[in-house]
Amino acid sequence: MAEWGEIKRHEITNKLLERIAKSLEKLVETMEIKGELQEKIKKLEDGRYEQFLFWRNISEPCEECDGSGTKTYGSTSTWSKRPGGQIITTDICDKCWGTGDKFRKGTNLRKLNMQIKELEKRIKELEEK
Ligand SMILES: [Zn+2]
Repeated sequence: MAEWGEIKRHEITNKLLERIAKSLEKLVETMEIKGELQEKIKKLEDGRYEQFLFWRNISEPCEECDGSGTKTYGSTSTWSKRPGGQIITTDICDKCWGTGDKFRKGTNLRKLNMQIKELEKRIKELEEK
């Protein structure tokens, strides 16, 4: 009786091991397929990013916005640094000024804004004379 019990347990163990081995094989297969798919997706995404940079004529993407030309600011004042509401806002990147290119910067809107304010102040002064 004891021997019979041992054999049965042995058979069960073997069958269980076979099932575990098959499950593991399937898992490995699934992981390989998933890995291949991820690799393909990554290549497609990489290609799309390169295409995006090409379309925007960007040789070296801006470190701040990765070439998008926009950036998320913590308030509604965005690049202007004026008082602003507490809403996360997307606006022109204040490092490349919208070009997305590290070496080809757009118009510095902060500087331009200051120049306009200075001119408005001078006009007002002249009008008061
Ligand atoms: Zn930028």
